[in-house]
Amino acid sequence: MSRTITRTKTTTQTRTARDSQGETLYYVEYARSGRSSCRECRDKIPNAGLRLGEQAQVERNAWSWRHWDCVSDTLLRRVGGTATLRGLLQLEPQDRAMVERRYMYIKR
Ligand SMILES: [Zn+2]
Repeated sequence: MSRTITRTKTTTQTRTARDSQGETLYYVEYARSGRSSCRECRDKIPNAGLRLGEQAQVERNAWSWRHWDCVSDTLLRRVGGTATLRGLLQLEPQDRAMVERRYMYIKR
């Protein structure tokens, strides 16, 4: 019997704990203030709004933020996967599911 099941591969990679120099870290979180602005659309990110942070390790504290809705597929591919996206487990279950769905969608 041949059943065609389109099963999206769940990434069961173990967390890579190496934060070597030159690596960029990505965080997904709720904004802790309303002061950050989005790198894509330049608008303010509202307090508690879901945002994606990118931190280049070369310059410490060099953060750039984006509204989650402004995050491009290209950027998400660069992040690599949910295993390298920090903060995901701290999100509300429905937001975490939404982020994971987005990943499944771009990983075709
Ligand atoms: Zn934006």
